[in-house]
Amino acid sequence: VRGRSEICEAVLLRSVDYGDSDRIVTLLTSRFGKGAFLARGARRSRKRFGGALEPLCVLQVEIGSGQGTLGTLRQATVTRTFPRVLGELARMAAGFSSLELVPELSSEHDEDTGVFSTVLAFLSALDLRDIEPAKLALCFEMRLLSLQGLGPRLHECGSCGKRPGPAQAGQFDPTHGYLVCRECGGAPYLLAGELREALVRASGHGWLECARGSWSALEVDQASAALRAFTEHRIGRELRARSLAPSHGGAG
Ligand SMILES: [Zn+2]
Repeated sequence: VRGRSEICEAVLLRSVDYGDSDRIVTLLTSRFGKGAFLARGARRSRKRFGGALEPLCVLQVEIGSGQGTLGTLRQATVTRTFPRVLGELARMAAGFSSLELVPELSSEHDEDTGVFSTVLAFLSALDLRDIEPAKLALCFEMRLLSLQGLGPRLHECGSCGKRPGPAQAGQFDPTHGYLVCRECGGAPYLLAGELREALVRASGHGWLECARGSWSALEVDQASAALRAFTEHRIGRELRARSLAPSHGGAG
């Protein structure tokens, strides 16, 4: 297949310098799932990629097979940007920390897991003025986990099976990924009742609508901490939105 190339949409997930002038980028593509690609000359000159290797936007890329599992990125252009995401710090931060989950929670060469369209919907919604970034990030994380079959069980006690009422808070154990009721000893993270119910729904197709609920900032913070502790436990390391943050200024 050497020499063949494909054109598709992509979102940049990670970028690391390689050698004196190249970069290795991890892309989530619309057709081939996640993959790593060598972008030759990406640091030496902006001509080739025209400054297109930026996170938090949609790219059109031309990719080819390379050596082993590393493909080649031949061209990239930005086809869609999200001005409010780039212009508001809270939205940008939510974007970085959410997209950092994607390489961990997606597979290579998966053609139709729904991850790409979910990421696209996430970025579009993050750009909307009436969407709160923290709520959106929480629902996105829940949906992404469930797309990979890793979603936590927030509807019943994992020990005895007892279900809390619709508006009843639950105590969540991130190590096991389920609720533990008071009779069974409880768990460290509190999930407010209606938000807990919404997160159960956010594992399904209606996840975006769950981001419009009217929960308090404290409830959202508690649930975000609970879910992130669970995700980190599943991934096996602590996540920091570092790899995508614009740390080496003025590249190229
Ligand atoms: Zn129980």
